[in-house]
Amino acid sequence: MKLTEHFTLDELTRSTAAQRLGVANTPPQEILPRLVRTAELLERIRSTVGVPVVVTSGYRCDVVNRAVGGRTSSDHTQGHAADILAPGFGSPTELARLLAPLVSVLGIGQLILEGVKGKQWVHVSTHTPEKAINRVLTITDAGTVPGIVGLA
Ligand SMILES: [Zn+2]
Repeated sequence: MKLTEHFTLDELTRSTAAQRLGVANTPPQEILPRLVRTAELLERIRSTVGVPVVVTSGYRCDVVNRAVGGRTSSDHTQGHAADILAPGFGSPTELARLLAPLVSVLGIGQLILEGVKGKQWVHVSTHTPEKAINRVLTITDAGTVPGIVGLA
C-alpha cells in the first residue's frame, strides 16, 4: 500500500527485529494517518536531498520497540518517526547537517543524528519535543548532546 508517491506502508513497518521475533508489527488503524504524515515528511526530505531516502525503521509495535531498545521509542510506536539514510547523498552526519537548518521549513519536529553500537542513522519525527533544545540532537553510546556533532 502506497502512503505517498515514494513511500509504502511496507517500508514504514518492515523490521528485521519483528521478523526475528515472529511479530507482525502491523500498525493499528489509528496510526495509519500518522504514517501518512511521516511519509509526507520523508517526501519533503527526499526532494531536499535529491536522492532516494532509505527507511531503516519506521513504525514499531511495543514488542519490537522493546527489542530494539530505542531511546526515542515513543515517536516510533506512535507512527510519528522514521530512521533514515540517504546513501546517494552522503553519510548520516552529512544528511543531518543538511537537514538541521531546515527543521522548521521541512516540518521536522525532531532531528537526531544517532550513532549507537557501531551503526549510524538519522531519526526524524513529525512530533516536536516540548523543550526546544531537544529538537536537534546527537545521540551516541557516550550520551546525548544538543545539535549535530559529526560522527566519524
Ligand atoms: Zn528513531
